Amino acid sequence: MPKLSDRVGTFTDSVIRRMTRICNKYNAINLSQGFPDWDPPVEMMNALEEAALKGPHQYAITFGAKNLRDAICEKQGKAIGRTLDPEKEIVITCGSTESMMCAMMTICNPGDKVLVFSPFYENYGADAILSGAEPIYVPLVPPEYNFNINIIEDGFKSGAKAIVICNPSNPCGKVFTEKELTEIGALAKKYDAFIITDEVYEHIIFDNNKHVYASALPGLFDNVITCNSMSKTYSITGWRLGYLIGPERVVEGARKVHDFLTVGAASPLQEAAVTAFKFPKSYYDELQAKYASKRDRFLKGLDEIGLKHNIPAGTYFVMVNIDEFLELDQFKNKTDLEFCEWACENVGVAAVPGSSFFREDINNLIRFHFARSDEVIDEAINRLGKLKALLK
Ligand code: GLN
Repeated sequence: MPKLSDRVGTFTDSVIRRMTRICNKYNAINLSQGFPDWDPPVEMMNALEEAALKGPHQYAITFGAKNLRDAICEKQGKAIGRTLDPEKEIVITCGSTESMMCAMMTICNPGDKVLVFSPFYENYGADAILSGAEPIYVPLVPPEYNFNINIIEDGFKSGAKAIVICNPSNPCGKVFTEKELTEIGALAKKYDAFIITDEVYEHIIFDNNKHVYASALPGLFDNVITCNSMSKTYSITGWRLGYLIGPERVVEGARKVHDFLTVGAASPLQEAAVTAFKFPKSYYDELQAKYASKRDRFLKGLDEIGLKHNIPAGTYFVMVNIDEFLELDQFKNKTDLEFCEWACENVGVAAVPGSSFFREDINNLIRFHFARSDEVIDEAINRLGKLKALLK
């Protein structure tokens, strides 16, 4: 048999996406792979219909249709207080997933080290391996998910080329403060390294927390590569539209990687997405209020059942502690993945096992998302109530 590459032997398929398949098999409620169960804004669906009838249907410019680049640079430029050049500082990609891959392939040589927080969104590990880089993990310690800046400095000292920051953070809901980002930024400057930020949850943030754009911090723009997406902010995860923003020399490299990886994101969808970047501030306020109310509803439900969880400051994810279940005979020696599979089949709710996010040997946390209609959240809570009965 002809051999496969060593590369594909070094990581598994995505457990997040695998859980959706398991969930579908048992017809369970999908609180595993994070995506909303409601329609995108009607203006966007209308724009898509119009694009279907009027085009474009052929390739857009490889690094993104001009009107979409202009619209994104306008909105994000305002957010970071800088005029972004749509000709030089942005590339539109197939989701933030491609942006992250482009970022890593643009800056890493085989053997380079990249700092990745643990828990991390599982793509980063595979992205590092695919780009030839070696991930060095920096613990975000539950339940507060704080980190030790000295570990980051040690990583940079040992030659790490970049640090990946998911902010707000999937899966733990951490929102990095200005102070934390400034400290990391100072180290990136000192050691001449990049910060790669994944900011896809920038508009899903709660309470008094504030999203701080790393690229907006004084003097940091040249060190920051921002990966972002339209999936979460506009409820269009299936459109696969994302973008990378950064300094010109990085974007020049990323455009080449993108060109040969995918040529471009779907042109009718790019055309339809332009509409979104013209939405008023109230759109983002409403999105935030909607997710805040869903978070509160889901957390209240978990509290009523008595399931222990963190309180996410941002994102639509919650980590739930399953220690007390793992002590039951039924789950002795079972992994968190086996627990999640069991829950799909027997409780009718799908979660993602925490071990797919942690580098450390952590088996007692599972991740739920709450991007679901209130009725579905209530039904999920109702079903999860069955879990507690096991303890009696
Ligand atoms: N970000 C989402 C999650 O973590 C899903 C992303 C994906 O599957 N591409 O669940």
